[in-house]
Amino acid sequence: MSFSILAGAADGVGATPAWAMLAYLASGVFFILALRGLSSPATSRAGNRNGMIGMAIALVTTLVTHDIANIIEIGIAIFLGGIIGVTIARKIAMTAMPELVAGFHSLVGMAAVVVGLAAWLNPGAFGILDEAGQILMVSRIELGLGIAIGAITFSGSVIAFLKLSGRMSGSPILLPARHVINLGTIVAIIGIIGFYAVSPDGGPGAGWPIIAITVLAFAIGFLLIIPIGGADMPVVVSMLNSYSGWAAAAMGFTLGNTAMIITGALVGSSGAILSYIMCRAMNRSFISVIAGGFGADDSAGAGGEPREQRPYKQGSADDAAFMLEQAEKVIIIPGYGMAVAQAQHALREMADVLEEKGVEVKYAIHPVAGRMPGHMNVLLAEASVDYDKVFELEDINSEFATADVAFIIGANDVVNPAAKTDKSSPIYGMPVFDVDKAKQVFFIKRSMGGVGYAGVDNDVFYMNQTVMLLSDAKKMVEEIVKALD
Ligand code: NDP
Repeated sequence: MSFSILAGAADGVGATPAWAMLAYLASGVFFILALRGLSSPATSRAGNRNGMIGMAIALVTTLVTHDIANIIEIGIAIFLGGIIGVTIARKIAMTAMPELVAGFHSLVGMAAVVVGLAAWLNPGAFGILDEAGQILMVSRIELGLGIAIGAITFSGSVIAFLKLSGRMSGSPILLPARHVINLGTIVAIIGIIGFYAVSPDGGPGAGWPIIAITVLAFAIGFLLIIPIGGADMPVVVSMLNSYSGWAAAAMGFTLGNTAMIITGALVGSSGAILSYIMCRAMNRSFISVIAGGFGADDSAGAGGEPREQRPYKQGSADDAAFMLEQAEKVIIIPGYGMAVAQAQHALREMADVLEEKGVEVKYAIHPVAGRMPGHMNVLLAEASVDYDKVFELEDINSEFATADVAFIIGANDVVNPAAKTDKSSPIYGMPVFDVDKAKQVFFIKRSMGGVGYAGVDNDVFYMNQTVMLLSDAKKMVEEIVKALD
């Protein structure tokens, strides 16, 4: 049996053939397996494969069960989208992944807005009109919510894109009275959706409420994300991931498509769980972060200020090689700079040489190292580092006391003790590695002028046992490998 999107929506999801419902269910199961697979680097490829199978089943089922008005147009759109996707996937640098993800979230948000506006302007085509020619009350609520979530996702993701790509300052921008403005705007959006649901003026494209909801939601997405910065940005990325899921679920309701509702809810809830886990890992209050930096100290975020000159020790690859081969235990702390330098392969080579010399080597991964969740794990997996040598913060932090060398490569904020001691610091409260407990610290970065994402100075540079290795990370590690031979 074939029926149109319009008829399908008009008849409700109950009109979907039983086999199609089963196919959607199967795609939902594949998506759950995908999420499960993505929870560990060892199973992530299988997870991706399951996600692709689930999406293929959902797509084919939707195409087969709907009367497609113009299959050629859809085919061209899929082809062009596919080409763009493949080109981006091949060309994108790993360091640009976070802003790419934020950019993709913004597209999901905009799609939800456009679908919602289309349904509002032409509700007959979506089968959501009652006998009096008015949009059904439940559909008005779905439209209002779908457009609001989509618009928040869009503008929030655009700001995240700008911050993550360095086109806008990563520091929090704190407007005066922002909490009052934010709360007022959210209450206004909810109030207008309620008003629209019961308004007598609910015909196609009728009334001002949908326009007001769209404008206010675009504004609140912007307002919620600009005050978030520094150590809270990782949470924003996963939170926007969650919003994009709810936006897709809202589109699913408007289009009467069960697979979209299931998929959107899975993405929405997994993103929310990830945000919660990241907040816990970083000692942040989930509510504070999603409320747009609620509780952020207006004096925080002094990043980028000129820094006082303090004495530090600088060393060479030969110095590092000498100390490393004398060590019994070395803990490597990779960070964003390793991704920039693409130093993971050279790093593995260095670890291999050290292990051949009888040195125990472990990798310590901070939950927010790099610029996206799991960034370091992906890079180390790409360099075929054994998963059993890679440890999370809470599992390895106590081991710095027994380590001969803490080898910091391109990390900065995640080892900054200001997070423990300086209440005015934008990273205050975030747990960090206790590298000061190691006998010797090597710190690779390009210059003393460069700062981490939060833009704050780091006392580790000036510790007695720290030797700064000022160079591009890959170049420095390659030189250490040569010196070790
Ligand atoms: P940081 O951003 O704190 O520091 C990066 C360091 O790498 C800097 O010291 C920089 O110094 C150095 N560096 C850059 N390029 C090179 C290179 N080619 N060779 C050698 N060193 C280099 O990184 P961390 O990983 O420690 O911390 C992550 C930060 O990013 C946290 O503040 C986190 O909150 C934030 N963040 C994380 C996200 C996530 O999901 N993981 C998302 C958004 C933000 P120099 O320039 O002198 O070389």
